[in-house]
Amino acid sequence: MHCPFCRRADTRVVDSRTADDGSAIRRRRQCPECGRRFSTVETASLTVTKRSGATELFSREKIVAGVRKACQGRPVSDADLARLAQEVEEAVRSTGAAQVEADEIGRAILHPLRSLDEVAYLRYASVYSAFCSLEDFELAIATLRMERNQGQGATASASLSEAEAADDVEHTT
Ligand SMILES: [Zn+2]
Repeated sequence: MHCPFCRRADTRVVDSRTADDGSAIRRRRQCPECGRRFSTVETASLTVTKRSGATELFSREKIVAGVRKACQGRPVSDADLARLAQEVEEAVRSTGAAQVEADEIGRAILHPLRSLDEVAYLRYASVYSAFCSLEDFELAIATLRMERNQGQGATASASLSEAEAADDVEHTT
């Protein structure tokens, strides 16, 4: 890592600490040439490819902002949203991929959002899955109701996401 001030090629690490949740390491560096200090942050790389083809760094804040709209007027707290964003990040990172499609992020949001609030889930799903008729809503609601009645909601959606994960593997190989 070269010095951002004088461009000397090697700098010295004077302090290194892990962020609270262990997701990043922050290093304080000093340049032996000009003596100035600067910080670097090391995180596992995760970029998102949007439908337009543009890429951006994964951001929990963007997940929260997107889901918050669907949660308007619902009993969902900021802490709930933060936890959901963390679950989504863990699910996406668990695939081991350094780059994911925006669609995968959208899909990873559906399951935890459904556990959080069914109305917010339907709102989000209607936009994400581009519901275009009353029948789409009816089908989604019927599915929710059926799985709730069976008391197997968690099991059913867990096996669904496993099937989806297997599907993704097939596409990438
Ligand atoms: Zn320097």
